[in-house]
Amino acid sequence: MHTKMVTMAAKKRIALVAHDNMKSELLKWARVHKDKLVPHKLMATGTTGNLLQKELGVSLDALISGPLGGDQQLGGMIAEGKIDVLIFFWDPFEPMPHDPDIKALLRVAAVWNIPIACSVTSANFLISSPLFDSEFERQIPDYDRYLQERL
Ligand code: PGA
Repeated sequence: MHTKMVTMAAKKRIALVAHDNMKSELLKWARVHKDKLVPHKLMATGTTGNLLQKELGVSLDALISGPLGGDQQLGGMIAEGKIDVLIFFWDPFEPMPHDPDIKALLRVAAVWNIPIACSVTSANFLISSPLFDSEFERQIPDYDRYLQERL
């Protein structure tokens, strides 16, 4: 697959998702990093989003709940270039019945080369990077060029 570069803006579009047993971790993490998070555009799967809204006292885009299709909705948005960063606290002790959604979401995030954090430590590394608040050139698949060569 050919690739091309796109510019991620300084203001990131950040998707947050946490499985039920991980929600308290994510809420705690978001509270600690509230000042760094709120200048960005935040969105989340349904339950995570509603809890975050209450926790942070800010409004964010709450999508469909994960098990009802919200993870796939996020995957679609990543493929459409509408999400820059994924914070995804999936539960390693209870991956089922989420496993197909986990795989699909992580796969599409890797295809579109967005930064992903699946643990508190990786989320801390991510949010403390100077790139979190600055423009960044990201390499993505160039499907148009692929198609031109196929037709
Ligand atoms: P929820 O979805 O935020 O609606 O709980 C998360 C998930 O289970 O993927």
